Amino acid sequence: MRIVIIGAVAAGTSAAAKARRNDDFAEIVIYEKDQDISYSGCGLPYYIGDEIKDIEELTPRDAKFFDEKYDITVKTQHEVTHVNMIHKRLTIKNIVTGETFNDHFDKLILATGARPFMPKIDGIEQKHVFFLRNVQNAIAIKTFIQEHKPKTAIIAGTGFIGFEVLENLLPWNIKVKVVEVMNKITPNLDEDMALLLENKLIEKGVEIIKGTGITEIHEDSVTLSNGKVEDADMVILATGVRPNVDLAKAMGLRLGTTGAIWVDDTMRTSHPDVYAAGDCIETYNSITKQAVYRPLGTTANKTGRIAGDNISRDNITRVNNANGLMHYQGNLSTGIFKLFDLSIGSTGLSEAEARKAGYDIEVIHNIKPHRPSYFDGEEMVIKAIADRTSKQLLGVQIVGTEGVDKRLDVFATLITYHAKVDELFHLDLSYAPPFSTTKDPVHYTGMILDNAIERNRKILPNTELDKLPGLQIIDARTDKDYTKKGHVENAISMPHAELRKRLNELDPKKPVVTYCNKGTTGNAAQNILINRGFKQVYNLSGGHQFYKATRVKKEK
Ligand SMILES: Cc1cc2nc3c(=O)[nH]c(=O)nc-3n(C[C@H](O)[C@H](O)[C@H](O)COP(=O)(O)OP(=O)(O)OC[C@H]3O[C@@H](n4cnc5c(N)ncnc54)[C@H](O)[C@@H]3O)c2cc1C
Repeated sequence: MRIVIIGAVAAGTSAAAKARRNDDFAEIVIYEKDQDISYSGCGLPYYIGDEIKDIEELTPRDAKFFDEKYDITVKTQHEVTHVNMIHKRLTIKNIVTGETFNDHFDKLILATGARPFMPKIDGIEQKHVFFLRNVQNAIAIKTFIQEHKPKTAIIAGTGFIGFEVLENLLPWNIKVKVVEVMNKITPNLDEDMALLLENKLIEKGVEIIKGTGITEIHEDSVTLSNGKVEDADMVILATGVRPNVDLAKAMGLRLGTTGAIWVDDTMRTSHPDVYAAGDCIETYNSITKQAVYRPLGTTANKTGRIAGDNISRDNITRVNNANGLMHYQGNLSTGIFKLFDLSIGSTGLSEAEARKAGYDIEVIHNIKPHRPSYFDGEEMVIKAIADRTSKQLLGVQIVGTEGVDKRLDVFATLITYHAKVDELFHLDLSYAPPFSTTKDPVHYTGMILDNAIERNRKILPNTELDKLPGLQIIDARTDKDYTKKGHVENAISMPHAELRKRLNELDPKKPVVTYCNKGTTGNAAQNILINRGFKQVYNLSGGHQFYKATRVKKEK
């Protein structure tokens, strides 16, 4: 059998290696139009920042490696320009010599990936304007910095690539501003968590210009859609990617609703002998089962392996599932990135996605240290979304410094296995002071959600404060905190210790929301009011701390 694979980065090489493990006799050939293969795209920003000095650390495998280790032929700088599905033939162009030739296949895997989205901007073709997609782009950016010593840069886009590049331009003493066309940063975060992150970045001196895009790029400046001109000796466009589907389209393969290649859960396309994997395909969300386009290295590696396994399955004997297919099980769009000392992660559905999908949701914010304060615990803000009907956890977003990755992966695992909110408390997680708290932030998240859904300990997001007519807002902190640290607009100071004596100041028939700094004393005050007959009592989600952290910063 002759297996041909188009594209040799994450998905293509994973597919090839898996196919070879299953079948030692198949001819396996990969065509790759670029010069680099099997590299870590995710490490490229750190090469720009010089944290990774040698690009070869990110490109450890070359064609010789695949030939010697796997008996796989990798032809770099060879572009597949045409696929004839009737005769199963390919036309290939050698990019170096310009010569074209033909090849044939029995089975084909498209691992053609994605390419940067090119916004319509005048002046985009200039030498100081960059995208970051592959090794050569990273080398070009670093070489430009070293040779031209730019003083200013504009980055367009506030997804993880835009921010990773921001962090890696700063060591070069470049003054960077970030432009975001939307009114909110970071697509994976809901508005409140995005605002929390934005305010933290503003405190760190990052300049973010929201609600405006670049309309024109000049030699040392850009014009924005708000009419302002900003200095820019270099411009990085981190404005997203689009799937490479030109070949698939020309072959008549079915595309999905997202515009990426449609595949079934075995990675087979609409043609039985053609499979596809990685950033060129459409996948599905494992909660909603809806089609999604999520171009991530994690998914590219997984789907590549599945395609490689299924395409070569006839040659292996499985113990319990003889010649069975490997099925993709969907994704949660789990992702994390680092920015300065911050870790920002999300998994599952956002609040906006859960609402759009029609769930009746409970939303809570939980602020907890990653380990005890006597061990320098660092706080993280966890936003969790659960379905009130099934009690299942649907999604989590976390912004913090330490221990975010660990919690995020626990939450991703819980969501994958359809955990219900009351089950989180019972998890037997590891504990010793250098690592966590006796009740971990994951446990607390489950407890707050369970209390809210099952035990009438309702939580009120601070965005809902002005939506409840007659709402009485009780600040349960000390009078000193109320005065010195600021308070929620229209709140009455009624410290927890005084609450029982001052109940006559409140109307038990009207809604009440209590709060403290982060939520614990707010909950204690809430309990008193509920136990004493108040009918509609909420605890403010994330307390005063989250309220304060998500106020819109005033323009200077
Ligand atoms: C800066 C950066 C940071 C990232 N960070 C993360 C991260 O932290 N976590 C994460 O999960 N993901 C991350 N990603 C995403 C991850 O790198 C991609 O999801 C992954 O590389 C996709 O692999 P792929 O093989 O599907 O596609 P690609 O990497 O796009 O590779 C496809 C290859 O196919 C080749 N090709 C296309 N058409 C043809 C043709 N006709 N003939 C021959 N060759 C062709 C292309 O030249 C390309 O090299 C990051 C990406 C970037 C750019």
